[in-house]
Amino acid sequence: MFGLIGHLTSLKHAQLVARELGYPEYADQGLDFWCSAPPQIVDSITVASITGQKIEGCYVESCFLPEMLANRRIKTATRKILNAMAHAQKHNIDITALGGFSSIIFENFNLEQFRQVRNIELEFERFTTGNTHTAYIICQQVEQASQKVGIDLPEATVAVCGATGDIGSAVCRWLVQKTDVRNLFLIARNQDRLQELRTELGCGKIMSLEAALPLSDIVVWVASMPRGLEIESQIFRKPCLLIDGGYPKNLATKIQHPDIYVLNGGIVEHSLDIEWKIMQVVNMDVPARQLFACFAESMLLEFERLYTNFSWGRNQITVEKMEQIGHLSIKHGFRPLPV
Ligand code: NDP
Repeated sequence: MFGLIGHLTSLKHAQLVARELGYPEYADQGLDFWCSAPPQIVDSITVASITGQKIEGCYVESCFLPEMLANRRIKTATRKILNAMAHAQKHNIDITALGGFSSIIFENFNLEQFRQVRNIELEFERFTTGNTHTAYIICQQVEQASQKVGIDLPEATVAVCGATGDIGSAVCRWLVQKTDVRNLFLIARNQDRLQELRTELGCGKIMSLEAALPLSDIVVWVASMPRGLEIESQIFRKPCLLIDGGYPKNLATKIQHPDIYVLNGGIVEHSLDIEWKIMQVVNMDVPARQLFACFAESMLLEFERLYTNFSWGRNQITVEKMEQIGHLSIKHGFRPLPV
């Protein structure tokens, strides 16, 4: 059995979804209530592969909300993630993906040191961040969508916002090793980590976001921002491809310009309908088939009975592992969301 640990994008979103899913007692409550709410399994899932295999899984709502980080409720945020992991393990889930901020909180606050959650000793090999598959899918989206909108990769300037992150650094490695991209901008706040990444890659230009945006043909957004940025469309080059892989989205404004292509990053489309309710509540266009690539990673590991934390730690995703999970993704019928 596979599991998905997820959360909603804001308090407002959580209240809306609680009402839709039939939890009216959660719907009128403020942040304090969500801070004390325990994790819950709110959906059971059946997925068929194009190989004919069928697997079962469930969705664990951690009740974490990004406002907890914005309001410095750090202890609450970490408790949410550990409790959700313990809940998944208690329900004998073999492999669970830590979606959205779950893995970011796990890593940033060193939760590996808190193995014991009440009577449960967490077995970390039962969890995966799902970031290898996410990074692979975003790279496929860069390659496929650029071709579709007429941006020539060898001539293009590609900016990665959140370049030093787990997903961002993997995307950079792939772009450098597997594509003809020659002009790569590296964007993040911590300069030491940017220098380290640049040394590892052997190329790339460290840039501020403000300086990079007007000069970029493609922007990959994979920064861990609790709230999206408001950016006006006149800043961008035309044509320009924006691949937003953030959850919540890095871009808060709905950009509407015929020459600016905005693509939901890190999203896959399955070839067959999935039996579940949960993707409706995160506003996927085709909820029966579209999902986060990190969630799909736990499905792939379940299909293959690969019960291991395939993606774990920070900045260790190799191009070889991206190719391995990419091969499984195609084998079981997933494809990157097109532009
Ligand atoms: P990490 O925490 O590993 O990395 C985050 C990166 O963002 C770092 O480079 C960080 O560097 C940078 N960053 C944070 N804030 C800012 C800012 N204000 N301006 C510029 N850079 C910033 O995160 P992950 O790689 O694990 O995840 C990245 C994003 O992808 C998140 O939004 C996450 O929710 C989403 N995600 C999507 C998935 C999917 O399936 N589609 C799956 C998993 C995650 P610094 O702190 O130095 O600025």
